Amino acid sequence: MIPIAKPYINKAEQNAVIKVLQSGIIARGPRVAEFEEKFAKACDTKYAIATSSGTASLHVSLHVLGIGEGDEVITTPFTFVATAHSILMVGAVPVFVDIDPVSFNLDADLIEAKITKKTKAIVAVNLYGQPAEYKKINKLAKKYNLFVVEDAAQSIGSTYYKKASGNLGDISCFSLYATKNITTGEGGMITTNSKDLNSKSILFRHHSQNPKKAYGYAGLGFNYETTDISAAIGLEQLKKLKAITKRRQIIAKEYDKAFENIPGLITPVVKNNRTHVYHQYTMRVTKDFKLSRNEFIAQLNSKAVMARVYYPEALYRFKHLNYFDYKAKDFPVVEQMIKEVVSIPIHPGLTTKQIKYIIKTIRNI
Ligand SMILES: *Cc1c(COP(=O)(O)O)cnc(C)c1O
Repeated sequence: MIPIAKPYINKAEQNAVIKVLQSGIIARGPRVAEFEEKFAKACDTKYAIATSSGTASLHVSLHVLGIGEGDEVITTPFTFVATAHSILMVGAVPVFVDIDPVSFNLDADLIEAKITKKTKAIVAVNLYGQPAEYKKINKLAKKYNLFVVEDAAQSIGSTYYKKASGNLGDISCFSLYATKNITTGEGGMITTNSKDLNSKSILFRHHSQNPKKAYGYAGLGFNYETTDISAAIGLEQLKKLKAITKRRQIIAKEYDKAFENIPGLITPVVKNNRTHVYHQYTMRVTKDFKLSRNEFIAQLNSKAVMARVYYPEALYRFKHLNYFDYKAKDFPVVEQMIKEVVSIPIHPGLTTKQIKYIIKTIRNI
């Protein structure tokens, strides 16, 4: 089976981990500091704060923005559940908005109608690796005095009007989970240009412990620390980021060319003024295709090409996330995309032979 995702690691990561293990400092230490510095540089932001996961990064971000009980946060229902769970974790409620069928991201033209006196923030997700509509989103945020959180879990290395992902809202959240474009196994990062949000994030990451007074606490906090073991892996991964991104984009181009004339199959569209880093290569299987989407997936899987649906359920389907009693008919685009999308392997470890095989298999089907 050709897997849908595979970590792109080799001897460099192995050696870096061994060095940390031999150093005796295995929790947060110099490697984490170095990782944060280089990560901020890669995203062109002033600050980066390493955390234990993308979910932790989202939770920290919403907390340091002061979002809490009674607040509403606008987001997409077509994302990984972490985006919405972090909103619940600070005591706020998710307000869902339908998506754009071209980018699969928040439909920015539908946001304004959902803004109320209680709205405090918009969490935009750069789904599959393509940035959302930040010009419109930031303009609305300015008009209504809202914060913008960039869920960049899938978009490291992408750009929007030449600005790097990580730099597109007030605060940004990355995941370094094993399937993401770069990984430390589990892990996360926050980026921001705000000195205030940076220092608050650092505090919340470790129980808001006063850095000058051990066992003194400035407020609520948690343990979202990461380790030098993870950071050592992350530093090696960062060195490979450009090559990983390039490789994903090259494979995407080959897929685009191979599938563009297949009736009923819609290849990914990159909207103007942004780059796509293809965390997923996600196509739409429409009515004009010979098979149903699920039959297509079954055939691919039976021919050893792993194909997956991201995501098979909209988040308003889950009772604890559906605070406003949303119905499927309120989100016609999401409902359609759930039935149409399919993602195929695009990780940088794919061999030329495997890429050819995937193309041939899909064309034959
Ligand atoms: C992976 C992911 C997260 C969560 O990251 P973890 O590191 O798994 O906690 C959040 N949002 C999106 C869009 C993701 O893809």
